[in-house]
Amino acid sequence: MDKGFYHVPQATNEPVLTYGPGTPERASVQAVYDEMWNSQVDIPMVINGQPVKTGKPERVLPPHDHKHNVGSYHWGEAKHVHQAIEAALGAKEKWENMSWSNRIAIFLRIADLISDRYRDRLNAATMIGQGKTIQQAEIDSACEIIDFLRFNAMFAAQLYSEQPHTQCGSNMWNRVDYRPLEGFTYAITPFNFTAIAGNLPTSMAMMGNTVVWKPSLSQIYSAHVLMEIFEEAGLPPGVINMVITDPQETSDIVFDHPEFAGLHFTGSTTVFKNIWNTIGTNIHKYRTYPRIVGETGGKDFVVVHKSARAPQVANALTRGSFEYSGQKCSAASRAYVPESLWPEVQEIMTRQAQEIKMGSPRDFKNFLGAVIHERSLDKRESYIQAAAKDSEAEVIIGGKCDKSQGWFVEPTVIKTTDPKYVTMREELFGPVLTVYVYPDEEFEATLKLCDETSEYGLTGSIFAQDRYAVEVAENALRNAAGNFYINDKPTGSVVNQQPFGGARGSGTNDKAGSKQNLIRWVSMRSIKETFDAPTDFGYPHMKD
Ligand code: NAD
Repeated sequence: MDKGFYHVPQATNEPVLTYGPGTPERASVQAVYDEMWNSQVDIPMVINGQPVKTGKPERVLPPHDHKHNVGSYHWGEAKHVHQAIEAALGAKEKWENMSWSNRIAIFLRIADLISDRYRDRLNAATMIGQGKTIQQAEIDSACEIIDFLRFNAMFAAQLYSEQPHTQCGSNMWNRVDYRPLEGFTYAITPFNFTAIAGNLPTSMAMMGNTVVWKPSLSQIYSAHVLMEIFEEAGLPPGVINMVITDPQETSDIVFDHPEFAGLHFTGSTTVFKNIWNTIGTNIHKYRTYPRIVGETGGKDFVVVHKSARAPQVANALTRGSFEYSGQKCSAASRAYVPESLWPEVQEIMTRQAQEIKMGSPRDFKNFLGAVIHERSLDKRESYIQAAAKDSEAEVIIGGKCDKSQGWFVEPTVIKTTDPKYVTMREELFGPVLTVYVYPDEEFEATLKLCDETSEYGLTGSIFAQDRYAVEVAENALRNAAGNFYINDKPTGSVVNQQPFGGARGSGTNDKAGSKQNLIRWVSMRSIKETFDAPTDFGYPHMKD
């Protein structure tokens, strides 16, 4: 039962620093980057608050310079997963009984540490390990994770304060106890957002749960820095246990455990569907029905109406498709452009593509870096090469890949005559946009096409000056996107401003960084108390 006061400071979004020439933040983050780039990190697992080193090191690979050595992580095995589960279960009773205000103070402190003392280190780890430019790192590993922590604290306070109705003077009192889930919880996080990696385990822990966290190997450097910050902020041992283990083996052990109580997942649709299947198969093994929250893939669209402004469309496509090499679940990856606007849009995009610089995030002139690993480059290259050969597709911008130093894929635009061409349907997760040019008068038919073409429903945009066109699109695409944008690129959601998530094949749409998400990590107990219990079993209608 919670003994805290449900009040935290009003959260506001963390300001995004610019890192422009001459700014103090630029000099500061560059110095920390250089120091980390020229030293060797040694990344342990963390189980029950203890660093676990296995003596089986694997190298951290900077995607933009995969031969450069910045250190390694310790590769664990099945026994470490069992230990992490035991640690989480062991820490549970004390953690869930800690007053809410003491619990939440730790997460508010984590946010402050990231905002201040650890900002450079977490940003630099994200730049080195995940290849983000400083702009992309700042909005992810500084601002978004800080926002998640502060807003979640506020949402949790609101949630706990939501109590059922009691009629005053009615001889009773109704309450709701927001219990943490019974058992341990499991967070599986993707490589592409440090903020998601931080949010998935902490949002569950904030609500009194203890967690086994399996980060992506391609995000391991910033995951390590997050664990350092958690410890410094006073997170007790066993509350969040980070394992670095084989994904399939880890999940096999977790999903076989009777105390498994909840999964917070972000990653690809295929992995999530397989996991759901496993949990379903094992359902008879669990003490309680596990909560399953998953945010997964996207095939995010931009539909352009003939009344739109071509320069705005072109710019939104360049930024929305190519920032962070298109490795955002929300990246624009298919566009429907009317014939009358296409020549101007193409001309501007071609010019912008020529101006874009690609390379190491250490060079602040670069707009994008490498894709995350060799497998990722190979996959994008195979789609691009197939498009170059297919009669219904044409590579009109970029298309080259180079793996000699880093995993670089040029910003690429494929133009297709088939609106259901494979790259209009499948998630590529790289800097590859496919454009279908449609006859101006077929706007409504094109909206229908857009709605029906892919299995996903994550993000999408309509560009139009004509308000009737906006209205038609908003209705026609109602279920095509969980985050819908009007005259803006489909990426860049901000915590507490555009709650993020999609439905259909894109996930359970529980909106990370919202009260809706936190509700999934508690199980309500209704309590009715009668102050003066009756002693007569009879009712008025029974009287003479
Ligand atoms: P991924 O599915 O390859 O990996 C995600 C996590 O799942 C990693 O920790 C990985 O180790 C783990 N995993 C992989 N195979 C597993 C298995 N068999 N059992 C258990 N765990 C397993 O995804 P990724 O490449 O890290 O991230 C990119 C994907 O994530 C894209 O599809 C993207 O759209 C999606 N994503 C979605 C959102 C969203 O909010 N909807 C946000 C970010 C990323």
